Amino acid sequence: MTMVFPATEPSTLPVVGSDHRFPVRRIYCVGRNYSDHAIEMGADPNKEPPFFFTKPADAVVPPNHPIKYPSKTEELHHEVELVVALERGGTNVSVDAATAMIFGYAVGLDLTRRDLQKSAKEKGHPWCTAKAFDHSAVVGAITSHKDCGHLNEGLITLKINQELKQSGNLNQMIWRIPEIISKLSEYFSLQPGDLIFTGTPAGVGALERGDKLEAKIDKLSVLVTHVE
Ligand code: MN
Repeated sequence: MTMVFPATEPSTLPVVGSDHRFPVRRIYCVGRNYSDHAIEMGADPNKEPPFFFTKPADAVVPPNHPIKYPSKTEELHHEVELVVALERGGTNVSVDAATAMIFGYAVGLDLTRRDLQKSAKEKGHPWCTAKAFDHSAVVGAITSHKDCGHLNEGLITLKINQELKQSGNLNQMIWRIPEIISKLSEYFSLQPGDLIFTGTPAGVGALERGDKLEAKIDKLSVLVTHVE
């Protein structure tokens, strides 16, 4: 088949200990999945359950690439998150069957134009320009579950210029990983290559050009990057 112009190559991510790369199909994200972050955003985690939004697959920034400070914002926020990478798909998947769909895990940063998000919330507008902009999904190398096991607890931290800014534990998630996959599969047909950002703990804040970031989750490849 001949295209009228060359089709865009998929975004891919490295896999720890392998020459093979992980091809990204879609990026799903969970909002307000840690109580302390829901509270810092002015929400009541007991009244407002987590929810989903998406980013385009070509928003992926693979490891060893800098964060490009985006246009149209004065308030680019960091959100360190566990990213789940799927190797199998499904619809209406049960919680018990969900874990078998997981290929592995990575550290990610859900970059957010917080000023645009605040304005969108006030006006009841969609979040696309706040969340789904170019280069908004920073993802580290993926570790196969065969190497790290399936994650349900472990420290998650973000240091900026060596200062601790975000800290939490994966066991503080409101929706646990199998629950996220199960709920998401009620709304969308999940497929191999899908990534799921699973929410951020408290401590989100603004990034400045020149900042050096070190994002860590127990058992996973450290994500080191900087803002330019
Ligand atoms: Mn987030």
